Amino acid sequence: MFQQRLNKLAAQHLSRHLRVLGSATGPVVELEGQRVLLLASNDYLGLATHPDVIRAAVQATQQYGTGAGSARLISGTLPPHQNLELALAQFKGTGAALTFGSGYLANLGTIPTLIGRGGLVLADRLCHASLLDGCKLSGADLRVYRHRDVEHLQALLARRPNGRRTLIVTDGLFSMDGDLAPLPDLVGLAHRYEAELYVDDAHGTGIMGSTGRGTIEHFGLESRIPFHMGTLGKALGSIGAYVVGPVTFIDYLMNTSRSFIFTTAPPPASAAAAASALKVLQRDPDRRTRLWANRERLASGLKDLGFQLTASVSPIMPILVGETQKAVTFAEQLFKEGVYAPAIRPPTVPESTSRIRVTITSEHTPTHIEQALGAFERAGKTARLL
Ligand code: PMP
Repeated sequence: MFQQRLNKLAAQHLSRHLRVLGSATGPVVELEGQRVLLLASNDYLGLATHPDVIRAAVQATQQYGTGAGSARLISGTLPPHQNLELALAQFKGTGAALTFGSGYLANLGTIPTLIGRGGLVLADRLCHASLLDGCKLSGADLRVYRHRDVEHLQALLARRPNGRRTLIVTDGLFSMDGDLAPLPDLVGLAHRYEAELYVDDAHGTGIMGSTGRGTIEHFGLESRIPFHMGTLGKALGSIGAYVVGPVTFIDYLMNTSRSFIFTTAPPPASAAAAASALKVLQRDPDRRTRLWANRERLASGLKDLGFQLTASVSPIMPILVGETQKAVTFAEQLFKEGVYAPAIRPPTVPESTSRIRVTITSEHTPTHIEQALGAFERAGKTARLL
């Protein structure tokens, strides 16, 4: 039965397989035995391989061991987790922070504390799967509004029965399109219609805003959005996620969030690594400057070649292809040309919008970008996209 289902996926060009890396993540990697330029990582600032971050992880392992041993409420919480939460709350200027094992777990655990049966969730159509799963788990009714469409959202808000508890849910920076949520409008609507707003800033954390505090900082809305989440496995080079907000809210989350309570704490090394990455991020703004310069260079190069990009304004700059088979062929050609950027297909993105998701980091050099553009041009011609 499973083989038949797998065959069906393969026939639709939707089967997936793991590709083996022979080296650490970085601008250049060994992938399935071939040296390629990696344009697929979310390690936007190269912090996963930063010497200080690695040293912090090693030291925490030597001091506290490899595993936390249990959930934090059971056998006690280790200093690296607490230090990280203090550092995150300070960085974000909020009362407190709570960390989770991953962004997926943070969303599954947090949304059901904000809304439940009888309530209404209004989510952007392109919200990350973990947000949608968190909404489903909450038991609230879920309606989606068209991507970034404030008028559609307003119509849905206006149509609800008076007094119905409502939560608006959105990514800050969308993971598969690289565009931003219209947060100022969402804040305005939430206020006007007495709804709450939950922002997932997984991709904005560390790279958006003048000091890297994220998409909310980018829009100058820190005083208007009291809590939000972000992840530690992307620009912060580790694994895990945080929710930041007022002390009482974070305390409530710690008391009720099932994906915090009923799961083993992440290894001390990953908490120490994230805290160290947070320090590097704050003392080395040049990484962000390089990231954005690289982003501009690659995005304008791709557009000049004639590729159709999404409405990206970030280091995530997908090339729209449409047909799944075509996107897969293009990715294979790119790989032959020495570039790895994956084809993203349904159900990760809507039908007929398959794409190549290109991401850039601060650690790519101008030479890497020139190489990449040459490869995109040749592969694009072979795949008949140019
Ligand atoms: N939210 C968004 C917007 C994401 O892109 C991701 C990861 N791709 C997650 C949440 C989940 O985070 P994690 O990988 O830490 O589980």
